[in-house]
Amino acid sequence: MGSTQLTGRVIFKGDPGYNEAIKNWNPYVNTYPLVFVFAQNACDVSNAIKWARENCVPLRVRSGRHALDKNLSVVKGGLVIDTSDMKNVHLDRRKGIATVQPGIRVGPLVKGLAREGFMAVFGDSPTVGIGGITTGGGFGVLSRSIGLISDNLLGLETVDAKGRILKANSSCNEDLFWASRGGGGGTFGYNTEYTFKVHRAPQTATVFDIVWPWEQLETVFKAWQDLMPFVDERLGCYLEIFSKVNGLCHATGLFLGSKSELTQILEPLLSAGTPSKVVIETMFYPDCIDFLDPPEPPFADENFKFSSSWADHLWREEPIAIMRQFLEETTGTKSNFFFINWGGAISRVPKNKTAFYWRSPLFYTEWNATWVNKSEEASSLASVERVRQLLKPYTKGSYVNVPDENIDNFGAAYWATNFERLRRVKAKYDPENVFNHPQSVPPSC
Ligand SMILES: Cc1cc2nc3c(=O)[nH]c(=O)nc-3n(C[C@H](O)[C@H](O)[C@H](O)COP(=O)(O)OP(=O)(O)OC[C@H]3O[C@@H](n4cnc5c(N)ncnc54)[C@H](O)[C@@H]3O)c2cc1C
Repeated sequence: MGSTQLTGRVIFKGDPGYNEAIKNWNPYVNTYPLVFVFAQNACDVSNAIKWARENCVPLRVRSGRHALDKNLSVVKGGLVIDTSDMKNVHLDRRKGIATVQPGIRVGPLVKGLAREGFMAVFGDSPTVGIGGITTGGGFGVLSRSIGLISDNLLGLETVDAKGRILKANSSCNEDLFWASRGGGGGTFGYNTEYTFKVHRAPQTATVFDIVWPWEQLETVFKAWQDLMPFVDERLGCYLEIFSKVNGLCHATGLFLGSKSELTQILEPLLSAGTPSKVVIETMFYPDCIDFLDPPEPPFADENFKFSSSWADHLWREEPIAIMRQFLEETTGTKSNFFFINWGGAISRVPKNKTAFYWRSPLFYTEWNATWVNKSEEASSLASVERVRQLLKPYTKGSYVNVPDENIDNFGAAYWATNFERLRRVKAKYDPENVFNHPQSVPPSC
């Protein structure tokens, strides 16, 4: 036993609040840690790291609770440092810089910035934590215009494995700063503050929402992929094709331009199949975010298993047939295939400029199975893995923020040629691999 005391809001197993603390967005990842430390500042994080080391207790860090696979931000019998009470945001309007604590969720952050006239990247869910999403990249419908969340990171404050509070930016601990932009969460440091470049928002932008019957999935997907990766960079678009039992194909997105321009651009998609709903509307910029990220509950009511990848080439018949078969067979109403168009500002950053490697694909895809009863778990997990194996010839890499514990060779999948450099940075800042989880970067020997 050492001398360090835990500080902050500390909740041990059995204490009031423990049953709330164990909940994560995806119930599939829930487990029973020994203790949660809801840090109020970087010193609480530092004390918790030292305490865990002195007491030989495994450690994890958590912010928005949206980890998509097991044992990443929580660990059975361990100490979880949770930064969700640390939510301060400071905007320097003159410089266009926001300094942000990791506990704030993406929705409140970008909506608050939008009300101040600034724009920052957001994804398809307002409840995702800025703490986690920043570490692996972070994309959304603005990414073709202004890059990934991590591309807009100017610096951070983090606590290392010895409990030292460090700054990392382009002139101080540059290697740690490089690794912190795409190297994945919970590995290099437990982050306590991010500094982001934010961009002047337009007064108005145009959003859209298009729905088709499920049976038209091939026509819709082909029209989407022929158009979206090559389209005006001001346009970001999600395509979701749900399970047959759900019955929908759905495209939605944001265009930093006018309705008339967008209607023209979307023509090939609008004339594909017979959409049952078409909404294209210009609105004030803050309302666009509300439109795309309406309020949602912080926890899902079903279990989810995801896997993810990118496509360098357009999909022809075979991968589309693989998608159709999965969506026909899966019983989960929320099971789906999700796509977003890549390129633009994302692809202008060199692959080795930050740890985020996957800059040149045409589109990103992820697929997931959902289930409620434990009896459906094994077949759901197997269905996602089967698709991963079948899609291998048509896809490249995998997104570390949508991780999949089935990927053995995860270093190559998440970081390709950046992996070895990440291992060297890990060896410098955490040679004993104190900050580890099943798919964290191991230190180089
Ligand atoms: C509903 C949903 C929608 C999503 N949509 C998008 C999207 O549109 N775009 C996108 O890019 N991603 C998206 N994701 C994936 C998302 O980026 C990851 O799940 C992300 O890791 C979540 O971060 P978190 O802080 O909420 O989760 P947590 O469970 O708190 O943490 C996730 C990971 O980040 C690490 N981490 C958390 N806080 C810190 C910290 N302070 N310092 C260091 N490491 C930390 C954890 O250790 C863990 O490894 C989505 C996920 C969900 C569940």
